[in-house]
Amino acid sequence: MIHLQRREMMFGLAGVALAHSMLGRVGMAMAADKIKPGPSSALIVVDVQNCFLPGGSLAVKDGDQVIPVINRIAKDFDNVVMTQDWHTAHHISFASTHDGKKPFEVIKLPYGNQVLWPDHCVQGTDGASIAKDINIPHAQLIIRKGFHNDVDSYSAFLEADKETRTGLASYLKERKIDTVFVTGLATDFCVAWTAMDARNAGLNVYVVEDACRGIDINGSIAKAWEDMAKLGVKRIQSSDIA
Ligand SMILES: [Zn+2]
Repeated sequence: MIHLQRREMMFGLAGVALAHSMLGRVGMAMAADKIKPGPSSALIVVDVQNCFLPGGSLAVKDGDQVIPVINRIAKDFDNVVMTQDWHTAHHISFASTHDGKKPFEVIKLPYGNQVLWPDHCVQGTDGASIAKDINIPHAQLIIRKGFHNDVDSYSAFLEADKETRTGLASYLKERKIDTVFVTGLATDFCVAWTAMDARNAGLNVYVVEDACRGIDINGSIAKAWEDMAKLGVKRIQSSDIA
């Protein structure tokens, strides 16, 4: 339903001229009603790591189902960036680091509220490895995040203190990339925060819904889509990409 509304809005009679000018401005070509990623576009593959797959310590439901979708659309991109959650062994985001706390409880830290997670993606462990079925040999950059012991980082751009930068915005700028397509795990945390920070960095941002899966704590998936829409993040399906 949302998909149809979006297409009508983008490609309805009144919208054609606008869509053309918008797409022209962001360096995109439009083939029929498909979006064709150009040289100024990058695919961002967020945290498709063993810990987040079924059987992992912080498994996202059906998380493995994003893999064939991401492998397929990656072929349409010259530029692919992957992210890797990469924590110290007693990271501040782990419930086990805090006496008497359980996973999914929320605590206050100097930089704000922090959801506590089961131990996951510890540096150098098999759980932190990118899923073996991800097949994107032409990926150019892996951004590791969450490696500072006392700060979490859902976003590929900005750590949870909202100050410490990963360098990704500058990298994309130097490479003259102005448009990103965000995929991976999990929709309501690392994907959403990455997409929103990409918007805040001045990029055009698409989130490919069927190339993502979420965790959903108290309606957090719906809330994430709402927050992303408010910032101008566009929600598409992999079939929208040429
Ligand atoms: Zn993490």
